[in-house]
Amino acid sequence: MFLKRLDVIGFKSFAERISVDFVKGVTAVVGPNGSGKSNITDAIRWVLGEQSARSLRGGKMEDIIFAGSDSRKRLNLAEVTLTLDNDDHFLPIDFHEVSVTRRVYRSGESEFLINNQPCRLKDIIDLFMDSGLGKEAFSIISQGKVEEILSSKAEDRRSIFEEAAGVLKYKTRKKKAENKLFETQDNLNRVEDILHELEGQVEPLKIQASIAKDYLEKKKELEHVEIALTAYDIEELHGKWSTLKEKVQLAKEEELAESSAISAKEAKIEDTRDKIQALDESVDELQQVLLATSEELEKLEGRKEVLKERKKKAVQNQEQLEEAIVQFQQKVTVLKEELAKQEAVFETLQTEVK
Ligand code: ATP
Ligand code: MG
Repeated sequence: MFLKRLDVIGFKSFAERISVDFVKGVTAVVGPNGSGKSNITDAIRWVLGEQSARSLRGGKMEDIIFAGSDSRKRLNLAEVTLTLDNDDHFLPIDFHEVSVTRRVYRSGESEFLINNQPCRLKDIIDLFMDSGLGKEAFSIISQGKVEEILSSKAEDRRSIFEEAAGVLKYKTRKKKAENKLFETQDNLNRVEDILHELEGQVEPLKIQASIAKDYLEKKKELEHVEIALTAYDIEELHGKWSTLKEKVQLAKEEELAESSAISAKEAKIEDTRDKIQALDESVDELQQVLLATSEELEKLEGRKEVLKERKKKAVQNQEQLEEAIVQFQQKVTVLKEELAKQEAVFETLQTEVK
């Protein structure tokens, strides 16, 4: 197993994506103070599951996201991917190359991936347990830590050596097994207690058993009685059921008769409705005729008035003419008298002439 590559974006001072290829022969990363060398080890420690912001030299986890500079806006995401060669299957996973990725957003959400598959932080910690690469492993010793290790307590030092020697895993398993054993012993003790208690209960239980036996016999008797009672109930109910059934049949027949009567009545209603409709229509027609006749009557009434007027005039004319006739007749009489006078004159004259 060896470290192949580290890809970082948005982590601490690395605003741009950087990829460090640890090709064969690379033994050191050098640079001026503050250029980001320690940030590279921080990135490795973080991707391997470091949870403490303080040991990444920050106040809170958000501080590891690129905070912006004079020329660049701050970022909202930090992502680190560590790629390891696993040709020798040193890591207990069936891949020749293993990459672990960790992402954190400013909102606090975070993601972990092994070979691009989402996983839990625990999966990553388990993967590296006893590999010498864990977040607390001796393979990462930060600036100033060497001294701290040398001066730390013998117990703390021991755990570093245990991790390096790969026995931590077995120690953890042993602890688990011991816990289980302890639990089992505890359970056994409890079983023994219960047994002891039960022994004292044997005599009272015997009495209870004989009562229970009695009870069972009585219960059986009761069952027989109940069965007989139920049979009687069934018979009675069956009788009632038969009568009700007949009633239902009768009611059904009645219903049938009623419904055919209703149908006949409905047909009649329908028929009457048709007739009413026809009558309505003829009433409409008659109304139409009545209207036309009234109009005609009105016209004739007008004409009658005109004729009345004309008749009145004619009567007047007739009277005038009759008057004229009388006058003419008087004139004729006068003229006839004149004529007779004139003829007498003429005759006298003739005689005279003769
Ligand atoms: P030295 O040689 O002194 O140990 P170094 O090369 O290890 O220096 P680092 O400590 O890795 O340098 O880098 C420190 C730089 O990273 C500082 O300039 C600091 O401003 C910058 N830095 C740390 N966190 C962030 C962040 N969240 N956003 C932007 N810059 C950051
Ligand atoms: Mg440094």
